[in-house]
Amino acid sequence: TEPLLKVDGLKKYFPIRSGVLSKKVGYVKAVDDISFFVNEGETLGIVGESGCGKSTTGRMLMRLLEPTEGNVMFEGKDLTKISDSAMRKVRRDIQMVFQDPYASLNPRHTVEKILMEPLIVHQIGDPKTRRQKVHDFLEIVGLSSYHAKRYPHQFSGGQRQRIGIARALMTNPKLIIADEPVSALDVSIQAQVLNLMQDLQKELKLTYIFIAHDLGVVRHISDRVGVMYLGRMVELAPSENLYAEPLHPYTKALLSAVPVPDPQFQREQIILEGDIPSPSNPPTGCTFHTRCPFKMDVCTTIKPKLEEVKNSHFVACHLYNEAVQH
Ligand code: SF4
Ligand code: MG
Repeated sequence: TEPLLKVDGLKKYFPIRSGVLSKKVGYVKAVDDISFFVNEGETLGIVGESGCGKSTTGRMLMRLLEPTEGNVMFEGKDLTKISDSAMRKVRRDIQMVFQDPYASLNPRHTVEKILMEPLIVHQIGDPKTRRQKVHDFLEIVGLSSYHAKRYPHQFSGGQRQRIGIARALMTNPKLIIADEPVSALDVSIQAQVLNLMQDLQKELKLTYIFIAHDLGVVRHISDRVGVMYLGRMVELAPSENLYAEPLHPYTKALLSAVPVPDPQFQREQIILEGDIPSPSNPPTGCTFHTRCPFKMDVCTTIKPKLEEVKNSHFVACHLYNEAVQH
């Protein structure tokens, strides 16, 4: 069967302008040619440090940002080619959950009004059924109907994210793009929200793209995980394989920083030298070569492609491509 979402060659280049005539002097390659798919009912985790292009990717899938190049196939339609009005209809089926629920919830509106809005925008139901649906979804996310008349500031961070999740669910979407949904929450609350999202996924048959900056957070919720660095996907694998046997040196370094419950199994920490280079002036060849402990000569000149080196385990690194090394 076809995947629910298939992304092919997606790019986002932001022009850099300079001078009084605002001449284009270059590009920030925020997302530079990434491809992946998401099957119905699964969770794809996308992980990377800030500025790696993961949020930009999420926003392009919803066309909140227009891609510079590439295709986004959703249920047989190329979302990069359809009209704005057709895209508005698709937004019923694809919803987002944001990192900071406080910033994304209107502080002057009651929870009821906030949750009702997507139903009004998409002309779903009448006032009575809408109100009923709001109350039902408050319960579904672990709040109660008596919360309906309250305002966002009257809730805790975790509760506010439950409201953000409820709002995303109001239109019965198929795909949820969650952009760091638990990053702003206390660790103890993170687990509750993650569990809620997993329960909702089963009950409502949802498909998730779960964006995070920490491999630890997406581990249990993701079926597969993609790791991004400087606008590119450097590794993509089923979760079990990625955590048991990371292949890309960057993934290895990220994983070595994730604490494990039993210290006996803690990996030796790999400290990366230097900072992430600017995406407006990325290194030649493998963009990770300035920080990679395994760098070879070829790495500075030839850009490694994301290739399948084991069953469904993809990596973009010359260490796994003998043809390029010699
Ligand atoms: Fe390191 Fe070379 Fe692999 Fe890039 S291609 S991750 S520089 S070994
Ligand atoms: Mg972000």
